[in-house]
Amino acid sequence: MTKQDVLQRWSSKDSADLYGIKDWGAGYFDLNAKGEVVVLAKKGDRQVDVSLMDVIKGIRERGMNMPVLLRIENLLDNQISLLNDSFRKAMKQTGYRGRYQGVFPIKVNQQAQVIEEVTRFGARFDHGLEAGSKAELIIALAMIPSPQSLIVCNGYKDEKFVDLGLYAVQMGYKCFFVVETPSELSIIMERSEALGVEPLIGVRLKLSSRAGGHWQDSGGEGSIFGLTTNQMVDVIDTLRQAGKLHCLQLLHYHLGSQIPNIRDIRQAVRETARFYADMVREGAPMGYLDLGGGLAVDYDGSKTNFVHSRNYGLDEYCSDVMEVIVEVLNEHEVEHPTVITESGRATVAYASVLLFNVLDTNRFEPGPMPDRLPEDSPEMLENLWFVRKSLNLKNIQECYNDAIYYREEICEQFRLGTITLRQRALADNVFIDIIHRIAASLDRIKRVPRALESLQTVLHDIYYANMSVFQSLPDAWAIDQIFPIMPVHRLQEEPERRAILADITCDSDGKIDKFPDIHDVRTSIPVHALSADEEYYMGVFLVGAYQETLGDLHNLLGDTNVVSIRINEKGGHDFVQEIEGDSIWDVLTYVEYEPKGLISRFRNKAEDAVQSSTITVAQRRQIMKAFEESIRGYTYFER
Ligand SMILES: *Cc1c(COP(=O)(O)O)cnc(C)c1O
Repeated sequence: MTKQDVLQRWSSKDSADLYGIKDWGAGYFDLNAKGEVVVLAKKGDRQVDVSLMDVIKGIRERGMNMPVLLRIENLLDNQISLLNDSFRKAMKQTGYRGRYQGVFPIKVNQQAQVIEEVTRFGARFDHGLEAGSKAELIIALAMIPSPQSLIVCNGYKDEKFVDLGLYAVQMGYKCFFVVETPSELSIIMERSEALGVEPLIGVRLKLSSRAGGHWQDSGGEGSIFGLTTNQMVDVIDTLRQAGKLHCLQLLHYHLGSQIPNIRDIRQAVRETARFYADMVREGAPMGYLDLGGGLAVDYDGSKTNFVHSRNYGLDEYCSDVMEVIVEVLNEHEVEHPTVITESGRATVAYASVLLFNVLDTNRFEPGPMPDRLPEDSPEMLENLWFVRKSLNLKNIQECYNDAIYYREEICEQFRLGTITLRQRALADNVFIDIIHRIAASLDRIKRVPRALESLQTVLHDIYYANMSVFQSLPDAWAIDQIFPIMPVHRLQEEPERRAILADITCDSDGKIDKFPDIHDVRTSIPVHALSADEEYYMGVFLVGAYQETLGDLHNLLGDTNVVSIRINEKGGHDFVQEIEGDSIWDVLTYVEYEPKGLISRFRNKAEDAVQSSTITVAQRRQIMKAFEESIRGYTYFER
């Protein structure tokens, strides 16, 4: 079979299977026949698709460089609709008499443009906002689309926080204070007395139910948030004594983010519904049941209870939650409240894609090999050479052991000074060649020795990605979060290399070496060999939740360029907004430098060099131009 045959037999469909795009893409991402990743959107009853390569072309034509965070408005719009429609459907099916009102937790993506979109698309469902701090409350108060949408305030609240919320209530907005600690209640009561405004009060429950997953510590009795049952009883008594029990209208819990197992969700809802029923029995008017966040995203597409996945769909989530609530409340003959959820991750994750180009690669491959060793080669190198020559299918394990042994000996002798740099380099080359030959022959032997099973996976290339993991994918670094990653073009060609990604920070943690897989976690991904005359573009998908503001300025690589598109009726796309990423000037000011001061310091140095005749005046001018142009440029690699 020639290489041409292989190329012809490979199609976009093979790539789609290889990268699992249909599994994690949630119907939003797919490949076209040209081998490019496309974004799918529904326009009326028509499905339209937009190629990411067309978007990249548009970005380049507008003079912007990679990396770019691409936001796709339609996907956010669609996720908000799906969430609301699914709850409405589940309520209808279960005969629920209350309504659903979601709130978006601002901390999941605080970017002005995202909150603006959430409130614009959410307005038709009275979708509101959740605020966890004073700054977020300020955002919520200014951005909330109407008094019909809810504002839920979690987190610790000082007097100013409480005053702002009370003014909102005075203005006719439904702004709830969720009491997280007993001491907060007295601040709320004092300030409401002082301002003459009745507060809307909720309580946060510390559940005994716990959930599996990364963020499991947010829920459960060991959680740092929420009231114990005794504290709840105290809150009820305090309010009753003050004649303010009618202010207690909401019960809230948050089990943690990314709950992969539906059983944990059901259990928490059941426990909460029981609390709700008894709070009504205590005489609180209630009316709102807030189930927090936790609705997971299937990052690896496996549809399992693995931490990066979920073993339920949105419809199942909604119908399970509603079933449990209806069952418990009907049993206790309690009126059906408004159900609130605070889904953040599932609302915004899909809408953002990080696009970057690959700058270079490093292959773990032997260089040219001499026909025979030089005369004066050390004995250990002769031995290694012999291993290479005698390798066959029967002695693989033995040759592997020998090669490792001789290589270690050679390294030791190099340290002792008895082997030269050139001899060591030749030895490394022979060693790498042996490892490759062994890896290549593993496919042809029946029983692969255990020690050699993982050999193929260590023989990957390194692809240098023009981005910073710390800035753009902080969770990939901090908590080993897995994101779907793949090339966005050339997918009608078989990707014949395997690689891990290294970013352009000089930090050894600045890499991605875990990739989604339906059955496991992959330690490398298939990629195409770089071509000399075409950029290689890749995308990291499902990055809309939590990644943008958690990111940091490692190596002073700043915010990336951001581009927002809207897919239009004709199946084309409009650029609705472009936000220029940080310049070097910007990031320097974040760490308290004065860029102007730096320029003048450097200018003085250049002047000194002129004075001492080290450079000419003309050279000084050229050097200063380069310095000043750089300081105004992008922090990432520019071509
Ligand atoms: C973080 C947080 C959320 C969002 O959770 P997701 O899993 O992203 O939906 C909701 N409510 C509270 C109180 C939170 O702290």
